[in-house]
Amino acid sequence: MSAPAHGRTDEMVAERFDVVVVGGGPAGVAAAVAAGREGLRTALVEWHGYFGGSRTAAAVDTFYGFWTPGGEARPVVGGIGLEIVEATLGRGGFRRENTYGAGPGVTYDVHDLKLVLDDLVLGAGVRPVLHTSVSGVRRDGDDWEVTLVTPTCGPWSVRAGTVVDTTGDATAAALAGLPVVLPGEQGPVQSLTSIFFLGGVDVDAALAVSHEERSELTRQADESGSYRLPRHEGSLHRTPRPGMLQANIVRVADVDVTDPAALTAAEIEGRRQVVEYLRFFRDRLPGFADAYVAEIAPQIGIRESRRIRGVTTLTESDVLDGVRDDQAIALAAAPIEDHRACSDTRWAPVGGDGLYSIPFQALVPTTGEGFLAAGRCLSAEHAAQASARNSAQAFATGEAAGYATALAVRSGVALRAIDVQELRARIRGNGGLV
Ligand SMILES: Cc1cc2nc3c(=O)[nH]c(=O)nc-3n(C[C@H](O)[C@H](O)[C@H](O)COP(=O)(O)OP(=O)(O)OC[C@H]3O[C@@H](n4cnc5c(N)ncnc54)[C@H](O)[C@@H]3O)c2cc1C
Repeated sequence: MSAPAHGRTDEMVAERFDVVVVGGGPAGVAAAVAAGREGLRTALVEWHGYFGGSRTAAAVDTFYGFWTPGGEARPVVGGIGLEIVEATLGRGGFRRENTYGAGPGVTYDVHDLKLVLDDLVLGAGVRPVLHTSVSGVRRDGDDWEVTLVTPTCGPWSVRAGTVVDTTGDATAAALAGLPVVLPGEQGPVQSLTSIFFLGGVDVDAALAVSHEERSELTRQADESGSYRLPRHEGSLHRTPRPGMLQANIVRVADVDVTDPAALTAAEIEGRRQVVEYLRFFRDRLPGFADAYVAEIAPQIGIRESRRIRGVTTLTESDVLDGVRDDQAIALAAAPIEDHRACSDTRWAPVGGDGLYSIPFQALVPTTGEGFLAAGRCLSAEHAAQASARNSAQAFATGEAAGYATALAVRSGVALRAIDVQELRARIRGNGGLV
């Protein structure tokens, strides 16, 4: 691979990293920070100009999955994820008791989170590589050659002992030719949502209308034919900014985001729906008379797309039965929340004692050495992913991937053969819960 045509990344060309983490969402940040803190030479590549993935680019501004739903609210995830949650609480974020069944959440300002993540990544000695896409992953001897594209220069490359795929879409795995499950292969993929913020809202008046009442009014308006409102039961919630609500209500269904034409159409349809929902809110709901769209998230929110085929696949029955075992590298408690076409979302609670575990082998592809996936593209059935995709589990699985890589490098053992009990001890030692 040749050097970039122009300048500034020259010093990185063909540079070797112990680990290249592809995708700087919750899973990627946690993976890179864990690996960096373990002393590995780590690069974190992200095509946006900031880290956070869905949490920033798609403006999903509430962390869920850290505590169990229900009265007791037991802790589920600690470690780096919880460190990030606490940092956002220290910057004006606040805890919300959840009304939709996912347990308590922490709502934060999206721009604050970008700053929190910058500090964390730099503090761990990780090399941040922003505005850069991974466009090729190829085995080269014992290493991976990772091809990068930065819009301001031609393609360039780095070498990696390990690649951690935290793209959310298993793009690195697909590029490397590793086995993946395609979007829609296991039934319709979950719908997409363009998150938006409304300013100029009389927040107290707006939130005096209950979720159920608002859903019913939305349904009636949609069925009247005067508005096109594909989802009736979406969420509107308070933000750290006065007079501003966040809306998670747009629904664009049956999109394969790995198809550029479909993804493009979805972005445009999402924005069209934002304007339509605003029209409805202003016309029909109290508190919105002067409301305006303060921001539409830069990127439509993607809940589900491609996933790796792992040595172990998390199943729907693992979630529904609350299965836990000694291969656990993360815990989860959020219900299955399967966003479908039309207006319904399928909710199903976790069984057993309300917790299930995610095994290390769900991060390990069936073939390919020196490669892990974490976050929403881990190996899981469609329904199981609809629970395990929460941000807390993305952080926890990413963190585990970072420590696993460090163990493999130190012990000289293949990643898929590391001692999982040692990994679990490392996770616990750093405040994680398994
Ligand atoms: C609309 C919506 C609402 C949600 N609501 C909640 C909620 O309320 N609470 C909650 O906890 N969770 C929620 N989630 C789920 C949660 O936010 C995500 O599933 C979680 O962020 C997944 O994290 P991740 O790191 O796996 O992937 P992502 O957050 O998707 O991050 C992937 C990153 O990889 C980057 N990337 C992709 N391809 C490349 C490439 N080739 N090169 C370089 N970079 C690349 C992307 O830019 C992105 O930054 C929601 C998700 C959506 C979409």
